[in-house]
Amino acid sequence: MSKPGVTYTAEPPIEGKTFVCKRCKRTYAFPQPGDRPIRCECGWWYLNDGGNIREAYNQRIEPYRTPRSVRAVFTRS
Ligand SMILES: [Zn+2]
Repeated sequence: MSKPGVTYTAEPPIEGKTFVCKRCKRTYAFPQPGDRPIRCECGWWYLNDGGNIREAYNQRIEPYRTPRSVRAVFTRS
């Protein structure tokens, strides 16, 4: 007796508005203000900062967790 395959994922299914990475076209749930940033596989991060999407390139900086000073990532200029 085999059960149907189940896909395990840490993320809930994407519902509603989506955000597409401008560089690699991966699709994510649209980030809300105050959410943790989208950390795209291609190295670009996207943060909803009070309604404006801010972007920053952070290839392989602490790839497995969000750094404590995540806002600083987006305030470089
Ligand atoms: Zn990407």
